[in-house]
Amino acid sequence: MIGETIETTGSREKERVKQDAPQRAILKVDRLVKQFTVGGRGFGRRAETLKALDEVSFTLAPGETLGLVGESGCGKTTLGRVILRLTERTAGRVIFDGIDLFDLSARAMRTLRGRMQIIFQDPFSSLNPRFTVEATVTEGMRIFGLASGRGLRDRAVAMIEKVGLSADALDRYPHEFSGGQRQRVGIARALSVEPDFVVCDEPVSALDVSVQAQVINLLIDLRDEMGLSYLFISHDLSVVKHISDRVAVMYLGKIVEIGAVAALFANPRHPYTRALISAVPVPEPGGRRKRIILEGDVPSPIDPPPGCAFHPRCPRAQPECAVQEPPLKRPDDQTMYRCVL
Ligand code: SF4
Repeated sequence: MIGETIETTGSREKERVKQDAPQRAILKVDRLVKQFTVGGRGFGRRAETLKALDEVSFTLAPGETLGLVGESGCGKTTLGRVILRLTERTAGRVIFDGIDLFDLSARAMRTLRGRMQIIFQDPFSSLNPRFTVEATVTEGMRIFGLASGRGLRDRAVAMIEKVGLSADALDRYPHEFSGGQRQRVGIARALSVEPDFVVCDEPVSALDVSVQAQVINLLIDLRDEMGLSYLFISHDLSVVKHISDRVAVMYLGKIVEIGAVAALFANPRHPYTRALISAVPVPEPGGRRKRIILEGDVPSPIDPPPGCAFHPRCPRAQPECAVQEPPLKRPDDQTMYRCVL
């Protein structure tokens, strides 16, 4: 088939589809709901339900990067964890390459995990300080049977060089590296098992600004070289704009707008998206945007406002916004938003 390459790795054969191939979803998230119970247990305390994800749906094509943005506490990290089944869902489905993940036994899920990986925000706490880099990078390869003996070391050397570190880094421990170098080790660990899909959970927000661009460019190069799909979670819209093909905007557990990156930044439709984009610095000299200041804090997901959850802060709220859920609008096949306007 045009645009496909076949890679054989140990006992595992897998198919990678380049970006110019006909688009099919590698990941389909269908009306995903996650609720947590908080409080309760004794002294008359009432248990309450926190709705972290509220009917979240989207698809991701092979080789595509979907940026996921929103303020702290909007559900971005929970969404990444539920997709990977690191946290169980309350309702809805996650279909990965045609497989419904919540139908799988724990054992079958463990086998599939090699194809779905995560890069964590904090490169300091996500690496085991007692493991050498070689032990960290080869652990997954060993578990998934990708190599053994001398082959493990050879693959570890290739992987660590791919992320821009030298082979002698394999014999050192995490504390001997800078933050940016540790994140490169975290990336090597995630990609060592040759996944198809990676959740990048704020992968540069703990790094110095001077090294953020290097790590982002590395992620872009590796995505293109290895045919990866990313769910790229960040609160920084400049970073998301640089790496993403499409962007989804979350507010209180819901996706309120999703669209192709250029169209979304040029013509944001939802008032919340407009406010977020208005805060992004314009790189051109003398370039300015009129900043939209949102009043108040994000409401509690335990007791979200009725109607449109954004209405207490929305500069363009209409009377009906306080009582009725905004309709879902699809102005074209790439764009979706929820607003009465
Ligand atoms: Fe604002 Fe109403 Fe649109 Fe919600 S539905 S974003 S409150 S205008």
